[in-house]
Amino acid sequence: MAGYDHDLFVIGAGSGGVRAARLSAGTYGARVAIAEEHRVGGTCVIRGCVPKKFLVYASEYGHAFAHAEGYGWTAEAPTFDWPTLIRNKDDEIDRLSAIYWRNLENAGVEVIEDRAVLEDAHTVRLVKQDKTVTADKILIATGSTPYRPYELEGQEHAITSNEAFHLEKLPEHVVVAGGGYIACEFAGIFNGLGAETCLLYRGDTVLRGFDMDVRTAVHAELKRKGVRVITHTVFEKIEELAPGRYLCRLSNGSKIECDCVMFAIGRVPNTDGLGCAAAGVAVTDKGAVRVDAFSRTNVDNIFAVGDVTDRVQLTPVAIREGAAVAKTMWTESPETFDHATIASAVFTQPPVGTVGLTEAAARKEFGAIDIYKSDFRPMKHMLTGDEERVMMKLVVRRSDQVVVGVHMVGVDAGEIIQLAGIAVKAGLTKAQWDETCAVHPTVAEELVMMREPFTPPELKAAE
Ligand code: NDP
Repeated sequence: MAGYDHDLFVIGAGSGGVRAARLSAGTYGARVAIAEEHRVGGTCVIRGCVPKKFLVYASEYGHAFAHAEGYGWTAEAPTFDWPTLIRNKDDEIDRLSAIYWRNLENAGVEVIEDRAVLEDAHTVRLVKQDKTVTADKILIATGSTPYRPYELEGQEHAITSNEAFHLEKLPEHVVVAGGGYIACEFAGIFNGLGAETCLLYRGDTVLRGFDMDVRTAVHAELKRKGVRVITHTVFEKIEELAPGRYLCRLSNGSKIECDCVMFAIGRVPNTDGLGCAAAGVAVTDKGAVRVDAFSRTNVDNIFAVGDVTDRVQLTPVAIREGAAVAKTMWTESPETFDHATIASAVFTQPPVGTVGLTEAAARKEFGAIDIYKSDFRPMKHMLTGDEERVMMKLVVRRSDQVVVGVHMVGVDAGEIIQLAGIAVKAGLTKAQWDETCAVHPTVAEELVMMREPFTPPELKAAE
C-alpha cells in the first residue's frame, strides 16, 4: 500500500462516499482522499432530500393558514415569497455542506475539489488540476442524475429537480412529468405554494411499485388538493412561445401552456466519462456499476456504493452501504447491507410511509395472507374542515401471522413508518403488535388497533 499516494481514493462526496471515507480514515486508520466536482454533501444535502423537505414544509403552510381558522385563528391574506424561502434554504445547505466538509477533515480525509476520472485500476486523473494520483483501493460513489429524454423535441426547455431548487420565481403554471417519488413530491410542493400544477403520467395510477391502496390514495389526494393529473399521456413536443412561456403538445392530442416544465422521470447512474472501461470496471446496460453483495466490482480493488450501483436509490441505503464497504475493505470481517425491508417515505401531502411487502407481492410470495386496513379522517381535521384521510394497512402472512408489510398514507406517515419498520424488520407477529398498548389520541395508535381482517366489499356481499 505504501507505494500508492493513498490507501483509498473515493470518487464522490455524497452520502455513501462520505460515510465510507470518514470510517476508513477515522476508524480504520487508512490514508484517504475524496474528490467532489460539485459540492460536498451530494444529492441528498445539496439538491435532494434536504432542500426538498424544506420546500415541502413551506408548501404545507399553503393549507395550514386555512386550517388554523377552524381552531379560532385568523390569518389575514398571508403571502408567500419564493426568494426568501430559497435564500434561507441555501443558507442551511451551506451550513450542512460545511459540516460534512469539516467532519471529513476531522477524520483525516483529504478533500479534493475536482472531477476525478479513472485511468486504470489504481490511477485517478484529477481533471482541473490535470494530474494523476494513485490509490490501493478506489470507491466509486458518484451517485445519479435526473434522466432527460434527449429524443424529445424541446426537452431543453424543461428543468429537472436539480434546477427546481434554484428557480428565480415560483412558476405560475407548471407541468411536472412522471409519477414516481419526485414527480408526486414536487406536484405537492408547487400546488401547495400556489402554482397551478399539472402532473403528466404515462401510466394510470401514480407510484408504480407501491401498494395499490397507497397508489390509489395518493392519486386521489393529488387531485383533491387541486393538482390536475393527466394519465396515459406523455409529451410529444415542448415549444417555446416566448422566453419563459411554453406550449406542451401532449400524446392525447391536447395542449397545455405553462411557464415551467419539469421532468421527474427517473434518475440515471453517474458513470458517463468516469473511465470505468479504462479501469476495467463492468457496468450494466443502464450504466450502473455492477457490484456484488459486498459492493465489490469485478475489479478486485475497486468498490462502488450508492445510487451509481442502482440498487435502492435512497440516502440511508447509500450510508449503510458506505459503512459496510469500509468494514469490508479494512477488516477481516467483510460486511453486507441487507437491502430487504427498507422503510421509506414519499413526502407527498399527505405523506406516504411504507415498509416490507405490498399486498400483491405478499400474495404472490406466500399465497395466503391477511390484510388489516383502516381508512379514517384524522382528529386534527375534524376542526379544520379538510376532508383529508388516513389509510393504514398491515399485510400479514397467514401461516405464522408475521407482519410482512406496513403501508400508510396520512399525516406523519414518514415519522410513523420508521418505528413500524423496526417491528417488521424484527419479524413480529400481528398478536405482538396487538399486545402493544395504544398511544391515545394519535394517528399511529390505529396500527395496534386493527382487529378484523379486511374483507373486500365484493366478498362481503357474497357472504
Ligand atoms: P422513479 O423511478 O420513482 O419514477 C419515475 C417515474 O417516471 C415513473 O412514474 C415512470 O413511469 C416515469 N417515467 C420513466 N421514464 C419515463 C419516460 N421516458 N417518459 C415518461 N415517464 C417516464 O423516479 P424519480 O425520478 O421520481 O426518483 C428517482 C429515485 O430517487 C426514486 O426511485 C427514489 O429511490 C429516489 N427518491 C427518493 C425520495 C424519498 O425517499 N422520499 C425522494 C425522491 C427521490 P412508470 O411508473 O410507468 O415506470
